[in-house]
Amino acid sequence: LMDIHSELTHHQIKVGNSIVGTEPFIIAGQCTIDPNNPNYFLETAHAVKEAGAKAIRGGVWKPRTMPYSYQGDDSAIKILVEAREQTGLPIDTEVMDEHQLEVAMDAKVDILQIGTRNALNYSLLKKIGEKTAGTQTAVLLKRSRAMGPINELIAAAEYIAAGGNPNVMLCPRGTIPQVDGYRNNPDESITPLVKEKTWAPVIVDPSHSVGRAKYVCAASMAAMAYGADGLIIETHVDPKYGIGDDPKQALKPDELKTLINNVNLIWGL
Ligand code: PEP
Ligand code: MN
Repeated sequence: LMDIHSELTHHQIKVGNSIVGTEPFIIAGQCTIDPNNPNYFLETAHAVKEAGAKAIRGGVWKPRTMPYSYQGDDSAIKILVEAREQTGLPIDTEVMDEHQLEVAMDAKVDILQIGTRNALNYSLLKKIGEKTAGTQTAVLLKRSRAMGPINELIAAAEYIAAGGNPNVMLCPRGTIPQVDGYRNNPDESITPLVKEKTWAPVIVDPSHSVGRAKYVCAASMAAMAYGADGLIIETHVDPKYGIGDDPKQALKPDELKTLINNVNLIWGL
């Protein structure tokens, strides 16, 4: 492992104009891009930048529990790219298969997200490591909600690094069994344990761990107190008009701004 990572500074990765690990790295935006309402996404993108976010998230393809729910659409990649052009911020989206990986890489997506369902899909992890080797592309690897020992998360990151891309960020996002009242079992407390064992920075996802907008700020503060390098926060200019998770768990931009101000206080900025 040391051979692969020796040239890296521990816990620091360049994404866009940010060095993750040197300032709170906040990724924010909609759970899901609605191709029928691109203006919501673009307005959200501007609003999260205004609030202090360093990168924009937007689901082009979605892993939905029900096959009848909106599954995403290749066409939404254009809206995501447009948000980067308008704001200058790097963009993040989840890829679940090789076709999506290809579309995302053609669009030069800055952060490829591996979701909780694919965190143990070793052939996909290897493929992503190989295809992004030697590029600036970062990978945000979510923790599988069924992952047990922390070493399993670190080993999954090694698959990407061994394929050729060490620009990996690890993302606790809640596990099962869920706490009654939350969406999952919040797991931001593993942050220091992970950071002691790997080179990769830790970006916590409180939106999916608690799954309710009203608890996201508290979970974010806990994550930062545990030493997280940043957060990924679902945000929508008007959550009730969102699709996917946004009606339940997205913050409004003014709430995100308050959250980021509090994060900066904890960080000491
Ligand atoms: C998401 O980020 O919208 C998402 C589907 O996350 P997870 O894979 O953690 O469920
Ligand atoms: Mn979501």
